[in-house]
Amino acid sequence: MLHDSNGQHSSPQPSINKVKYLEMGLNSLNLGVVVCDSNGGIIFANSQAEKMFSTSYGDALTAKEFQNLIHEAAKGNYTNQNFDLFGPPKRSFLAKATPLIEDQKVVGFTATLEDISLKKQLDDVRRDFVANVSHELKTPIGAMQLLAETMSIESDPDVLARLSSRVEKEAIRLGRIVEDLLDLSRIESSGSTEKRNQPIDQVIQEAVSRVSTSASLKDVSIDIVLPKDTPEISIDARQMISAIYNLLDNAVKYSDQNDQIQLEVVDSVDWLTLSVRDNGIGIPPRDLERIFERFYRVDQNRSRITGGTGLGLSIVRHVVENHEGHITVESEEGKGSTFTVWLPKDA
Ligand code: ADP
Repeated sequence: MLHDSNGQHSSPQPSINKVKYLEMGLNSLNLGVVVCDSNGGIIFANSQAEKMFSTSYGDALTAKEFQNLIHEAAKGNYTNQNFDLFGPPKRSFLAKATPLIEDQKVVGFTATLEDISLKKQLDDVRRDFVANVSHELKTPIGAMQLLAETMSIESDPDVLARLSSRVEKEAIRLGRIVEDLLDLSRIESSGSTEKRNQPIDQVIQEAVSRVSTSASLKDVSIDIVLPKDTPEISIDARQMISAIYNLLDNAVKYSDQNDQIQLEVVDSVDWLTLSVRDNGIGIPPRDLERIFERFYRVDQNRSRITGGTGLGLSIVRHVVENHEGHITVESEEGKGSTFTVWLPKDA
């Protein structure tokens, strides 16, 4: 017996019988379902399954795999089977056969076919991420191990001092990767954004103060250009400080000694934009699309020297997306780069 929203008993409408309801229910599934007798004869196929028996090349292959499964199931082999169609687009399916048993006898089976492409894609992304993280952590750990081994048989105090300063650098690098990973996972987790209306200049000052040590080590100056009236905007200050800091940190890292960086805020009707401009090494056009990916670096060696983690721009992208904004980049090799964060005023 069904219950309606008031808790009253309700029955199916008289014009639709139970079998019809069952058929409608099975047709509404995003899954191919076929019910067979024990010889593999098809008793029922839902609309998704029927679609798979249509004429297109990909569907024909799917139907062939599905029929193989039915054939095997009719022989009593109720296995799950994964198969891929190489597309494009590449698609992955999971086919399953389950026996139907009455009075301890197999009287037929149900075969289902599920499109698991998205799930597989997510699994691949997760696996790649874990592999990347492990690789990134292994590099400094390996270096520290080697340095420690060398130190244990070294007695020259000058060499020892040099080696220990390299151990310290690798430890700092390791710490930075872990910090960025934690930052990224906090920023990525849904519901973590806590927005509040606040003046943008305080957030900027905080980000600038975080980068001031590395900037002064390179004698890089940071010029801040703000609108006359400080605009207020609804933001998660902690996340926004992290995003601006990462852009400024990159601008410093990829600038030459004594260079100048500019951070400009423009307040227009619909958008508040924050641009970080440097006159540094610039980014080749072919890399521009990929620099926001986790662990992507234009030049691995340079990044190692500058102590980059390859996570900074992923953090920036996520923060901006959490604020319904977007980020653009203009860059010319040898001339410099400008990263602009666009924040909608009404978000
Ligand atoms: P990293 O920690 O290596 O800097 P990011 O995710 O912050 O990682 O940046 C990814 C890559 O994009 C960097 O390795 C670098 O090659 C390039 N990049 C980012 N910002 C700049 C910039 N201002 N100038 C030149 N290259 C940059």
